[in-house]
Amino acid sequence: MAYAYDPQNIFARILRGEIPNSTVLETEHTLAFRDIFPKAPQHVLVIPKGAYVTYDHFFGQASEAEIVDFARTVAKVCEMVGATADAGAMGSRAITNAGEHGVQEVPHFHLHILAGRPLGRMLDMAEAE
Ligand code: 5GP
Repeated sequence: MAYAYDPQNIFARILRGEIPNSTVLETEHTLAFRDIFPKAPQHVLVIPKGAYVTYDHFFGQASEAEIVDFARTVAKVCEMVGATADAGAMGSRAITNAGEHGVQEVPHFHLHILAGRPLGRMLDMAEAE
């Protein structure tokens, strides 16, 4: 599968240090930072440093080191911002939008981690009708 990556997308520019961000956690392969327009009290975006467009691109073509680093960073961020769902915790939601139907605004793979309020049901098929 071929994916066309736009190196001028806003998250590529954040990774190059051209645009500031509010970093939550940075590792060798991954950056986590606060969403500029938060949809919940906690809204963190986790992105790989590599040039991946969507989650299927990343999980299909990234190295094992990148994938493990990404996954462990997600877990650490959840712990840092109170987005765990272990006993007694309030839970959270992780979302990744892809492509036109997924209404992906920024074409660099990112996982939204949302927490700090009740988040409602995920999707309603009635919306599609
Ligand atoms: P998408 O719709 O692609 O899943 O989500 C893109 C997210 O990126 C949106 O929630 C939007 O608020 C966030 N965003 C867009 N531009 C910037 C920016 O310059 N900095 C940060 N931190 N977030 C951004």
